[in-house]
Amino acid sequence: MHNFVYNGNPGRVIFGQGTISRLREEAERLGIQRLLVLATPEQADQAAAIAQKLGDRSVGLFSKAKMHTPTEVTAEAMEVVTETRADGLLAIGGGSTIGLGKAIAFRTDLPQIVVPTTYAGSEATPILGETENGRKVTKSAPSILPEVIIYDVDLTMTLPFTMSVTSGMNAIAHAVEALYARETNPVTCLMAEEGTSAIAGGLPVLQQDATSVSARSDVLYGAWLCGVCLGSVGMALHHKLCHTLGGMFDLPHAQLHTAVLPHVVAYNRAATPDAMARVNRALGSTEPARGLYELSSRLGATMALKDLGMREDGIDAALDQALSNPYWNPRPLHRQPLRELLTHAFHGIAPL
Ligand code: NAD
Repeated sequence: MHNFVYNGNPGRVIFGQGTISRLREEAERLGIQRLLVLATPEQADQAAAIAQKLGDRSVGLFSKAKMHTPTEVTAEAMEVVTETRADGLLAIGGGSTIGLGKAIAFRTDLPQIVVPTTYAGSEATPILGETENGRKVTKSAPSILPEVIIYDVDLTMTLPFTMSVTSGMNAIAHAVEALYARETNPVTCLMAEEGTSAIAGGLPVLQQDATSVSARSDVLYGAWLCGVCLGSVGMALHHKLCHTLGGMFDLPHAQLHTAVLPHVVAYNRAATPDAMARVNRALGSTEPARGLYELSSRLGATMALKDLGMREDGIDAALDQALSNPYWNPRPLHRQPLRELLTHAFHGIAPL
């Protein structure tokens, strides 16, 4: 007997190889005449080449997107929106670029076409995390959710393997927390298990052959499913802890998620047997925390927070902050076991 509520987010998804050629058609479908293209400085050339193909439908390129969506960058982009009289946004890139598009859409309600080139999954959520005066604040609104996602496997081929691994594990973290979310439901669980399995299967193939289109396609497909999970149910300890650690120590987003996830799974394991059975099935493991740790380590990810830039004396400060703002988690939050969790993650010790 199932009792559940399922909240699906509206949005159109185009998935495949060479799908970027559908851009003009999608802009037309949305009635967009004047697209402003967004990118990071690193992807400016790639975005400019795509903008060029749009001809007069593209009115400019703003390529200053930055991690954690600082509001001063958004303010600068808003001036360009006004100057160019843009009536739509095209974000080409990872979570940082997509975050900028969402921040502009939140302020203007402009329609967004998003072309994700990492596995972070932001494109599938109505959530925006922006940073003002060093504090990251999260908002959720229907205007934040992109109208169209174009997944083109070709555009992910340049994502370096190490980033592919951590970005893929970041996606798996959404699925794992969705499996034991307070609002979890059978539909989200199906997507979470399938998404985890697609990523866990694809990444080892990429380790052998980074040019495998079918493995890239599997990982991107999994990333979409995991992103949908993130956008459909609330997250728990893992995401809250990463939010705290990332903000306090300016740690890189995807790498941080990769290093913390196995330890949170060990913390929540006994309280979430059904979710853990699904994680095991998806990974082909017998113990989920070890399974995640071993997968990431085998793929070469950095597993110690100290190697990502965290200081050891920050463990207690992070605990203070993480415990100061209570939130739901399948296992109640207690300082001592959480301290052990963070100490293990700090040193990159395999979870017990
Ligand atoms: P990112 O967008 O910061 O990208 C990292 C770097 O990789 C950038 O320099 C980018 O230009 C480059 N890059 C991206 N795709 C590439 C490709 N195919 N080839 C070569 N280089 C490429 O990293 P991310 O992990 O995708 O995003 C992290 C940000 O997204 C964080 O700010 C995080 O908070 C946010 N995020 C938000 C949500 C949400 O729902 N709101 C979800 C996930 C992540």
